[in-house]
Amino acid sequence: MKIQCGDYCLIVDEKNKKQLVLVDSVASGTYNGVVDNADKDNEGTRTTISLDLADVMVNFGTDPQRGTCYGLSVEPFKFTKKINPWGQVQFYRDVSDAEKEVIVTSLRKVGGIIKQRGWMPVKPIDVQVRYAKSKTIAGYYKHASKDDVNDVLTLCPLEFDGETDYYVAHEASHGIWYNMMDKILRGKWIELFAKSTVLSEVTKTDLLSCMDDLKSSGSCKDYMADIKEDETKVLIAKEIFRLILNKHKLTKKDIDVLLENEDTDLKGIWPKRAMELGSKTLLVSDYARKSAIELHAVATAYFILDRELPKDVKALVSETLANI
Ligand SMILES: [Zn+2]
Repeated sequence: MKIQCGDYCLIVDEKNKKQLVLVDSVASGTYNGVVDNADKDNEGTRTTISLDLADVMVNFGTDPQRGTCYGLSVEPFKFTKKINPWGQVQFYRDVSDAEKEVIVTSLRKVGGIIKQRGWMPVKPIDVQVRYAKSKTIAGYYKHASKDDVNDVLTLCPLEFDGETDYYVAHEASHGIWYNMMDKILRGKWIELFAKSTVLSEVTKTDLLSCMDDLKSSGSCKDYMADIKEDETKVLIAKEIFRLILNKHKLTKKDIDVLLENEDTDLKGIWPKRAMELGSKTLLVSDYARKSAIELHAVATAYFILDRELPKDVKALVSETLANI
């Protein structure tokens, strides 16, 4: 295999780990490269390795297509751009001038507010711009066990639109949670999140009417589609399917098979006792129902961007930011 300076190669290292390596020197049969996962302007974080040709599985050339190869994500580093107060932002994605403008403006604006008011996490954060992956729009990653590894904030929406300010503010708020808040402050958010649970009684009649409706819908999937507008019914149905799976080890597909047989009586597997179910109220946004951490990030981002918040949530954001 011919390898030249500037080629991207997929190698298997001595620990049997696949890595994307950028070949940066070739001299008399010796090949050196850098593992392509670090800020190239910061020598300290580059990993230089010596390449053994036998370890090279694929040579992608100088401008690989983005994708996955042998299970490794091939997303070559493109360039860095200094955007204060974040430092060198790492781009792993081609962006148009218009997109770059949006990214720079959002990072400067939100970073400026956070820094000026003293909320910038003390720990360095590597900001990375990456291609969209499934449904993830942005992310915040913290090495729980390694304190000397920078946190990483990624921006990976399908497009950089007017919500980019929000993505930056939301992920930066995770940085505040992980690096600047003590147990007492986090506890207050967990309490607020816990308080937003609404408990509702599910009676025996509710259970039976769910069973009858499921029979008329004909399949679990059709039934869920029929009731999708009714949040309480969805909650009850999900709980029933969960209980049937737990107690009888029957999946929705198994239930569908039973439903195809007209004589089948589901009573044998159906929950009989009334129960209490919890659901989350809409505190700020639907996403904020996910967990206390997400509630904190959504609310703090709204606060940073001066968006409207319920009174008690706003009070807790102010209290938190005043005490970090
Ligand atoms: Zn989040």
